[in-house]
Order: sequence, then structure tokens, then C-alpha cells
Amino acid sequence: MNIRLSTGKEIPVEMHKVRIVQKTSLPPVEERLKAIKEGGYNTFALRTKDIFIDMLTDSGTNAMSDNQLAAMMVSDDAYAGSESFYKLARVIEDVLGFRYVLPTHQGRAAEHLLAKVFIKPGDIIPMNYHFTTTKAHIELVGGQVLEIYADEALKTQSTHPFKGNLDIQKLKDTIKKYGASKIPFVRMEATTNLLGGQPFSIENLKEVKRVCSEYNIPLVVDGSLISENAYFIKIREKEYKNKSIQEIIKEIMSFADLFYLSARKSSCVRGGFIATNNKKFYEEIKPWLPVYEGFLTYGGMSTKEIEAMAVGLREMTDISVAGSAAEQVKYFAERFIEYGIPVVTPPGGLACHVDAMMFLPHIPQSQYPAGALAAAIYIVSGVRSMERGTISMDRDQDGNEVYSDLELARLAVPRRVYTVSHIEYVVDRLHWLYQHRDMVKGLKFIEEPPVLRFFFGKLEPLDNWGSKLGETFKKEIGAQ
Ligand SMILES: *Cc1c(COP(=O)(O)O)cnc(C)c1O
Repeated sequence: MNIRLSTGKEIPVEMHKVRIVQKTSLPPVEERLKAIKEGGYNTFALRTKDIFIDMLTDSGTNAMSDNQLAAMMVSDDAYAGSESFYKLARVIEDVLGFRYVLPTHQGRAAEHLLAKVFIKPGDIIPMNYHFTTTKAHIELVGGQVLEIYADEALKTQSTHPFKGNLDIQKLKDTIKKYGASKIPFVRMEATTNLLGGQPFSIENLKEVKRVCSEYNIPLVVDGSLISENAYFIKIREKEYKNKSIQEIIKEIMSFADLFYLSARKSSCVRGGFIATNNKKFYEEIKPWLPVYEGFLTYGGMSTKEIEAMAVGLREMTDISVAGSAAEQVKYFAERFIEYGIPVVTPPGGLACHVDAMMFLPHIPQSQYPAGALAAAIYIVSGVRSMERGTISMDRDQDGNEVYSDLELARLAVPRRVYTVSHIEYVVDRLHWLYQHRDMVKGLKFIEEPPVLRFFFGKLEPLDNWGSKLGETFKKEIGAQ
């Protein structure tokens, strides 16, 4: 909860107490240099022992609640007909309003099934913005992603409250151009991950649905970060100021023909599912579930996770849970802005995103400024962030680079894991790095996988800048 101090300053105060902890340590700068070099300047290759504060992702790294942990103890491990599944299905009906549930081992597995069942080669899938795994699954079955975001979406410095909105005119033009038969569904992503955690408004969603209905095109909502989107609607969309997070989530759901999520985000567990009220869709997907995931009542998940998911889905409708990351992200962004460090605004729902093209304007996109920034942040702080830029895009079919619209180093805020003092430490080290930004140069690939290359790719720094940066840091700040 944001609390205004007597000085007038607002800080995010955690509405929970920490009762289980995991020890962490800060490896000295020489060790950090060795680790990033061995990992090919790719933060995905770092190990927990090399990391002080892990802001790679909010995926599966959130703190569970006491009630979630307790629920795991009473799970029912039946292969078929597990009572844990029926508990989850009841919660999904209560919280989201869907009758049919198809559990999957995580979010991308839901995307795999949707792509397999609904997309034919040559199909077009319009969406507010892609997510890496969504795009990979759509393209693997021969479909094409078409992003029709509003112009404001790519402006990193903005005051627009809903940069995750879809451009309605562009949607109409797209349907006219390709024909509704080529569009198996329109996809709306809640709190668009790769745009910096930016939400859509209900007003926009309503319009999207109206156009979809006119042409009989199903609307798919990716709700991995649904509670944060609902939180932003509550604080940014006037008509919803007095509605509860639960009421807002239900209203969003009323527009979705198909819903899926990765439970690793808002609901603080691991796993995923597809949900719908459309029996025909359900029956079309169902036969494939045991082929790729597992039987209908576990879908590749442990029944312990299913129990914890049922609790997590209810808990995410509590505003102090729905807003827990967003409020820390806001504080984070405001502190960076005080130092003139360029971050994505308005602050989003899952992470503080540093704009690498503005931070490192001397590095061209062909030399991966966001990847270089993520590596530099690690060297000077032991903090792990994630590249969300051109390295996260794969080459096109002819082997050409596809430059990302944005080059961001993403400092994710796992829910209920870090405190304001951790954030202050990160802000301080980035402030130092910003003053030494000229020392950071580009990267080049030395090992490049053909698909989702950001996971396993290895790179090296041009001009050996990493070691020089580390040495300067040691001289000015010390080993840590
Ligand atoms: C994380 C995520 C996915 C993929 O889910 P996984 O559980 O990581 O497979 C899909 N869409 C969005 C918006 C996500 O944030």
C-alpha cells in the first residue's frame, strides 16, 4: 500500500510480514566479472550463487503466502479426477467466471495448444503486443503476429495511462485488408509485458470486443498479469475508481471468448491454464491436452501447485496483493527519474524498465544496447536484469536481424520478495553506472541459437569493456 509520510513523500509499504527467508550474498566485482564472462554476457546464464538481487523476471519467483503453502499440504495426487483440480475449477468460475478449464504446465503450453488448434498457415493474429513465447508458437504453426498498438505505446517517456490499448481503427483496417476468415482470433495481453508492463483500459477492451463481434472473431485474453491490469484500471480509469479488483477482473473476463494465463506471474505459483465458456472451443482443445500436457485434471502440473494456484487466484483480487509490485515499480521509477536515468513511464506493472537507447545512445541496435546494459548492471551491482530488446527478437527467415521497437533492460520486481532498501541499492549502483555510461560498449554474438536466442545465446563485449568497467568500479567504490 502506498503510504504518505508526514514529510509528504509517498513510499510503498509492504502489507505482509516476512516469515521465511532465503539467504543471499553479494559476490565481489572480480567474481561478477568472471561469472558474466563465463555466461557469455547473457544474464540468463548466471547462477543464483553469483547474484545478489535477482530481478531477471517475476516469473515463478514471487513469494507465496502462508495460505498457499498450507494448501499444498492437502493436495490430492490422483492421476485422474483429482479433487485439487475441482477446487481450482471452482475458484476459476468464482473469480474469473469461466465454466471450462484446461490446465497446462505453464503459460506457453496454453499458447502452444491455442496455436495448434486455431491457427492455420497464412493466418494473421492481431494483438496489442506480442510476448516472446506467444510469437514463437504462432510462427511455428505458420501464423503471423500483427501488432496494432496505439502510437503512444512505443514512446518510452509518456504520461499515457493505457499504453497497452489496441488501436481500433487499425484493427478495422486489418480485418478489411485480410478478411475475417484469415483471423482466427484477436489477442489482448493484460499489462503488456514487452511494452514495459503497460495496461489496457476497459473502454478499449470493450471496443475491441465490439469490432470482433461484428466479424465473429473470437477475442483471446492473455491474463498472466491480470491483477496488475485491474489495479491500473482502478487507479487510472475514472469510471472504475470505486470498483473492487474482483469486480474489474470479472468485467474484463466478460469480454473474453478464451482466456489463458501463466500462473507464474499474478497468481504467485507455477503452472497455467486455458479457460472459456465456449463448449465448442473447449472440446476442440481437450483431446490434445493429454498428448502434450497431462490428463485433464492436472495438465502437467503438480497437484500441490494446483492447490496453491486456487488460493493465489483468490488472493490476487486483494488490492494489497494486486498492487504490491506496481507500487514498488512506481517508487523505483521515481527514484531513477530523480537521477535523470531514462526509464519507461508511466511506471508499469511488473518491472522498472531502463531505456537502453537513451542510457547508451552511442551503441547502435546492431550491437545490442539492452544486452550490454544488462551485463553492465550486473558487473557494477550483482543485480540480475533481463535484456528486452533486439537479442530477444529472433532473426527473420532470411537471417536478417529484426530490430526491436524498444531496447530495455528490465529490472523485474518479483511480488513480495524485495524491500525498499533493495531498491535503493539498485538505484545507487545504476546512478554510478549512468555517470560512467561512456565506458559501456556493444556486444557481438559468439554462439547464436536459431530460436528464442536470448535464452542460450553467448556474446562477447567489444573492446573488452566489461573488465575496464569492473576495474574502474573497484577503484572508485571498492570490491563490492
Ligand atoms: C510469462 C508469460 C507468458 C508465458 O508463460 P510461461 O508460464 O512463462 O510459459 C505468456 N504471456 C505473458 C503475458 C507472460 O507474461
